[in-house]
Amino acid sequence: MVGSQVVDRKVDSVCPFCGVGCLVTYNVRDEKIVSVDGRDGPANHGRLCVKGRFGFDYVHHDQRLTRPLVRKPGVPKDPAQTPDPANWREVFREATWDEALELAAGGLKRLRDTHGNKALAGFGSAKGSNEEAYLFQKLVRTGFGSNNVDHCTRLCHASSVAALLEGVGSGAVSNQVNDVGQAELILVIGSNPTGNHPVAATWMKNAAKRGTKIVLADPRVTDLGRHAWRVMQFKPDTDVAVLNALIHTIIEEGLADEAFVRERASNFEALRDNVRGYSPEAMAPICGVPAPLLREVAREFAKAKAAMILWGMGVSQHVHGTDNARCLIALASVSGQIGKPGSGLHPLRGQNNVQGASDAGLIPMMLPNYQRVDDARVRAWFEDFWGTPLDDKPGYTVVEIMDKVLAEEADPHKIRGMYVMGENPAMSDPDLHHAREALASLQHLVVQDIFMTETAWLADVVLPASAWPEKTGTVSNTDRMVQLGRRALDPPGDAKPDLWIIQQIAQRMDLDWRYEGEESGVAAVYEEMRQAMHAVIAGISWERLERESSVTYPCLSEDDPGQPIVFTDSFPTPDGRVKLVPADIIPAAERPDAEFPFVLITGRQLEHWHTGSMTRRAAVLDAIEPMATASMNGEDLRALGLAPGDVVTVRSRRGEVALHVRRDDGTPGGAVFIPFAYYEAAANLMTNPALDPFGKIPEFKYCAVQVLPGGKP
Ligand code: SF4
Repeated sequence: MVGSQVVDRKVDSVCPFCGVGCLVTYNVRDEKIVSVDGRDGPANHGRLCVKGRFGFDYVHHDQRLTRPLVRKPGVPKDPAQTPDPANWREVFREATWDEALELAAGGLKRLRDTHGNKALAGFGSAKGSNEEAYLFQKLVRTGFGSNNVDHCTRLCHASSVAALLEGVGSGAVSNQVNDVGQAELILVIGSNPTGNHPVAATWMKNAAKRGTKIVLADPRVTDLGRHAWRVMQFKPDTDVAVLNALIHTIIEEGLADEAFVRERASNFEALRDNVRGYSPEAMAPICGVPAPLLREVAREFAKAKAAMILWGMGVSQHVHGTDNARCLIALASVSGQIGKPGSGLHPLRGQNNVQGASDAGLIPMMLPNYQRVDDARVRAWFEDFWGTPLDDKPGYTVVEIMDKVLAEEADPHKIRGMYVMGENPAMSDPDLHHAREALASLQHLVVQDIFMTETAWLADVVLPASAWPEKTGTVSNTDRMVQLGRRALDPPGDAKPDLWIIQQIAQRMDLDWRYEGEESGVAAVYEEMRQAMHAVIAGISWERLERESSVTYPCLSEDDPGQPIVFTDSFPTPDGRVKLVPADIIPAAERPDAEFPFVLITGRQLEHWHTGSMTRRAAVLDAIEPMATASMNGEDLRALGLAPGDVVTVRSRRGEVALHVRRDDGTPGGAVFIPFAYYEAAANLMTNPALDPFGKIPEFKYCAVQVLPGGKP
């Protein structure tokens, strides 16, 4: 029984809405999910947020794609046209699976055979399973013939991962979120966990109640500020100034952990020399945080028995995102706050499986388990394992791929065809006019999704896929837990499991793949992936996941319980030490000026998930937040003669949107915050595609805009 409702069955799975990875039970009646309960999973212990509790009716939405679709002859791809998911018949016709697959794979194959292996690219998805990510990147590498494969990790933590791989030799977290219960101090920077990782935020709030000091460092004072011991509201774009000031204080005041630095770190002298010029007194006018507060936080961080750093996109989505993360690694290391309970580094992962998809090799420079494609020894192993030669050059990243689509005809690396599985770059990329123009200009675009997304609207062939509750597979959460999701429902109409579709495309591109077993051979795919990633998940068999639902890696044998804390004795770097990398202040690529005087900050909000294709079709979530809003400080509203609810036009050099303003005094003066989930007011029309040179992540957190009263929302 659920309340007064009798259910037909209960199915255990994982929430698909964020990287926290809460375990859930679906309550199914008459082939519908009528409610969801939190399970006693290691990340949630029965807790769920509003998305996990009320967000699942998107699965039953009448706009689900149920038949393969093919663009009608002569219907142009118009990048400026707003998709109308209810009227797709004007653009597409229905097709059989055989016809659609032949057209989809045939078009890709023709481009590959005519223009060579650089002519194609693929975007996989962090919303799908590990098995789907693994198989998708294998298809691109062995079927398309290049490393032009990427996914939305490029838009979220690519810079963090670049810094972590360089500094500590591993791109994943050192400690799990729950470990905040062991900390004396928690530094949360560039993250809005109550909105974006709500259940994880409950562990932080619980810790604060027990006396743990939370330091919230962010240009926006978000809800966690109510629970913070200190709030450091710094000016947007000044992360390096803040963090170097903390490191400066710790070294200058003799608070560094000398034994840790001596025995476990390298390059300390270069770091020390670099931060000499970053005293809190010198940095305060730059970052806006008073020098005494910077010193106080630095002292408490260094002196704490255990201090943990958690960060989000506010750190990573800058042209200096890698430098920001380098500073966090240095801060933890000089203080010896890493490799023990309650202390360490935790980049909070956004998408439910962005950790797992990256682990599985859905990135252009790495094969599974972050093994570089340009390492001949690694490549030889995979060539033997997969039975085919592999490209030795890293592929292009998300934003670079769009640029290569619009490259000159003569460019030998011009991309002409794409296969997009479960991503929506027509909403999630920066500078959307550019991205949509690129998608529309492709000679052949295949999109596999559950709704007629803004990207699918520009496709030649649309393949109807399965929602998360309609398939079985594993995902890996922000805590390095591999967790099993189980199928509760059949897909609607002729929609098919993604794993089946990938295999059908592969077979039509001359790949002789055979994955036998139930659910499109998901267990067989997992076992192959486990071999490819034996260094970290050798001990996590499919049978074990069926028994335990969730196992933390690294896990090297069946009786290994997994390692919730890593780097306890050494780092997986060539010399076993953490490498300290100095960073200097690099300004944002586009600063405000007299013509565009405000800073645009984009991000997520509690009720909506990324580009909104799922949550905006969840009745409760969309009822709570039905429209895009621009959050601004009350003083800025007054100065512009605006009241909450008024309409404004926000305009950058690349695009504009009209929407209602909302008063939020946590938003700093001179800035406007807009969530990117709303196609009617797509924030990414305005964002700057400038990239961090290491992580190749766009600067979503900073560009110059005008805010003008009036407009048509
Ligand atoms: Fe789902 Fe994340 Fe909410 Fe947990 S915190 S219920 S995983 S959206």
